[in-house]
Amino acid sequence: MEQTTVTDLHVADGEHEKEIEDQEEAQADIEIWKYVFGFTEMAIVKCAIDLGLANIIHTNGGSMSLIELASTLKCSPSSLYRVMRFLNHRRIFRQSRTSQGTLIYSQTPLSRRLLSHEENNMAAFILLESTPVMLSPWLGLSNRVLEKSGSAFDAANGEDVWSYSSKNVAHSKLINDAMACDARVVVPQIIKGCANLFDGVCSFVDVGGGDGTTSSMLVRSIPSIQGINFDFPHVVSNGVLCEGVQHVGGNMFDSVPKADVAFIMWVLHDWGDDECIQILKKCKEAISKDKGKVIIVEAVIEAEDTKDEFENARLLLDMVMLAHTTNGKERTLKEWSCLLNKAGFGHFNVHPIQAVQSVIEAFP
Ligand code: SAH
Repeated sequence: MEQTTVTDLHVADGEHEKEIEDQEEAQADIEIWKYVFGFTEMAIVKCAIDLGLANIIHTNGGSMSLIELASTLKCSPSSLYRVMRFLNHRRIFRQSRTSQGTLIYSQTPLSRRLLSHEENNMAAFILLESTPVMLSPWLGLSNRVLEKSGSAFDAANGEDVWSYSSKNVAHSKLINDAMACDARVVVPQIIKGCANLFDGVCSFVDVGGGDGTTSSMLVRSIPSIQGINFDFPHVVSNGVLCEGVQHVGGNMFDSVPKADVAFIMWVLHDWGDDECIQILKKCKEAISKDKGKVIIVEAVIEAEDTKDEFENARLLLDMVMLAHTTNGKERTLKEWSCLLNKAGFGHFNVHPIQAVQSVIEAFP
C-alpha cells in the first residue's frame, strides 16, 4: 500500500494554489472588459430612454417586432437591432422569434423600470446621472482623493451642486425628478417595513424634501397627518400639489419649520459631520418636546461580509458622494451612532427595509 508523505501533501497544496491562481487570471481576462467599457451600459440605457423604447412597446401592448419598432421610430432596423441585442443580453427587453422567424421584443421587469408612468420607474434618475454636469466630476476624482482639488463637482462645474442647480432651472428639475423616482420606490418600503413609525404623530416636516413627492405619499397613506415639505424656495415653488401638504421654502442651516417629527431622507449623506450636526440641531429645535423625534432615511454601510443585495448600490452611492459633494459620504452604523451622539440624540433605532436606505429613528 502506498503511503502519502508530507512532501506529497505540499506538492498537492501547491498544485491546488496554482489552479486557483490560473482560474483567477482567466476570470480577470474576462472581468477587466467590464471596466474598459463600463460606461457603455449606462449610455445604452440612456439611449433606450431617449428613444422611448419601453413606452413605445408598452403602447403597442407589451411586445413588438423589430420592423414595427423601427417604423415607429422612423429609422432603419440595423442599428436598432444591435441596440436591442445588447439590451436583451442585459435582460432589458426580451428577444424572441415567431415561428416565421420574425424578431419580437417584449417587456421585462428591468425594461418596465424605464416606463415613464410606472411607480417604480428610474428613467429620470438615469437621465440625471448621465448628464455631462454629473459625469464630468468623475473624470477628476483622483485629484479629489489626492486633495489637489476640493470637491470634484466644483472643480468640474465651478460651484457646488446646490448653487449650480439654483441657477440652472433645467438641472434643478432633473435632480427633483430623479429624487422623486427614488421616493416613489422607497416610501412604500418605509410604510411596509416600519408600521408604527408615525403612530401618535399629527404633523411632520420633510427637511430637504425636494418636490414633495415623499410628503404627498406619506399624507395619502396616513390621512390623519399633516405634512410640510421644506426645501429651497426655487425647489418648493415647483412642488407637487397635494391636500394636507404645505410647501415651505427656506434654508435648513438657518431654521426648520416646526412639526411633531422631522423626516430627513437622502440629505445628511450630502454633508460632512460638522454640517450634519448643524442640520440635526435645527431639526431638534423644530420638533415637539414630548413626542418629537427625527426620522432619518439613509444608507447604513454594512460589515464587509454582508450578503445584503443592496450593499453594492450603497457602495456605489458612497462613490457618488465622493464625486458630487464636498464632504458627503455614506456612513456605517458606528459613524451614525457617533454623529447622532454629537448632535445630542440620546438614543436611536435602526430599521432595515427592502431598499438601499434604512430608517433611523433618533430621539433627543
Ligand atoms: N429628500 C428628497 C430629496 C433629497 S436630495 C428625497 O429623498 O427624495 C437633497 C435635497 O436637499 C434637495 O432637494 C436640495 O434642494 C435640498 N437642500 C440642499 N441644501 C439645502 C438647504 N440648505 N436647505 C434646504 N434644502 C436643501
